[in-house]
Amino acid sequence: MHPFSREIEIEEVELRRVGMRLVHPFETSFGRFLEEEHLLVILKGKGEEGYGEAPLHKAPLFSHEDTETAWHVLGDILLPRVAGKRFRRAEDVLEAGRGIRGHQTAKAALEFAFHDLQARLDGEPLWKHYGGSRRRIPVGVALGVEPSIQALLDQVERFVEEGYKRIKIKIRKGWDLAPVSAVRERFPGIQFTVDANAAYTLEDLPLFKELDRFDLGYIEQPLAWDDLLDHAKLQAEISTPVCLDESVDSPRAARAALELKSCKVLNLKPTRVGGGLASLEIHDLCRRAGVPVWCGGRLETGIGRLHNVALATLPGFSLPGDLSASARYYKEDLVDPPVTVEDGWVTPPSGPGLGHEVKKDLLERVTLAKRLYRGGKEVAQ
Ligand code: MG
Repeated sequence: MHPFSREIEIEEVELRRVGMRLVHPFETSFGRFLEEEHLLVILKGKGEEGYGEAPLHKAPLFSHEDTETAWHVLGDILLPRVAGKRFRRAEDVLEAGRGIRGHQTAKAALEFAFHDLQARLDGEPLWKHYGGSRRRIPVGVALGVEPSIQALLDQVERFVEEGYKRIKIKIRKGWDLAPVSAVRERFPGIQFTVDANAAYTLEDLPLFKELDRFDLGYIEQPLAWDDLLDHAKLQAEISTPVCLDESVDSPRAARAALELKSCKVLNLKPTRVGGGLASLEIHDLCRRAGVPVWCGGRLETGIGRLHNVALATLPGFSLPGDLSASARYYKEDLVDPPVTVEDGWVTPPSGPGLGHEVKKDLLERVTLAKRLYRGGKEVAQ
């Protein structure tokens, strides 16, 4: 980050709830999604705007947060504390969350908006702002639970042909060995991984031992969403690397996971861990421990997606990330141009901040509710 960034007065803050329809229903072990409601934080100062996104579900399924809790935490607590104040560093903005336990995604949306605003005012792309260096990032795709093995194979074939560097499929009880063996048999050479979204327990050890036969890059979050200990026990029993996702929601949890040897790979979702600074800290911890990380996704619009792309330029993000093209999830994305993937690579934009324009007309059309803050308080519109 630019060490001499100027002090920025946050003249106005907007909180928006936006409704976006996915192009293809996305099914995991905890639910099936078609309509997403995410929150956007927009910080305004010195004639620029910075954008952050809280990509949450309408119910607390992936974590304890949902759209409604973040609407409250951001709208009633965090945003009044930053509107009208002056900040030099993202660390100081995060002070607004002092005393608020958890709610990492709400905090991340605020912090991200500040990073974007700061990078725009400094005239540098967000990836440079974070100290990233990679000029292109390998991209993998995550496929939900499909209606049939054939439908799954058709999807895999499509994305392999499009050049995606890794195929990940969601598994759950009753949809595990059969799809894994079918995909591996049909595509013997691909980088192939599975994500269980916490659908299993240690009693399923025989299944995980069987999965060792399929040369999987990793098994993501096989056990409980808040567990580290059983994952360490599982990792000691199987050769396939365990990758943690839900269980690591802070740098502290990352440190515990590394010391306990609960995983050999980490899915680093910046909004899950509290934002850019927490992501940098976890990235560095994992790098020192020799644990590769990759950037996960939460069905973000282009705004959250571009924040992820910027962080994924850091050197420790050495495995393909879930940074699919906008068109994979949304017919029309909030950013122009949309995020694209060329032959399995995404290129971080070179413009300041996020590097793509936000489509203001579309943003108005998809806004379901809006709150506005000036001078330390919410103002009527
Ligand atoms: Mg996952």
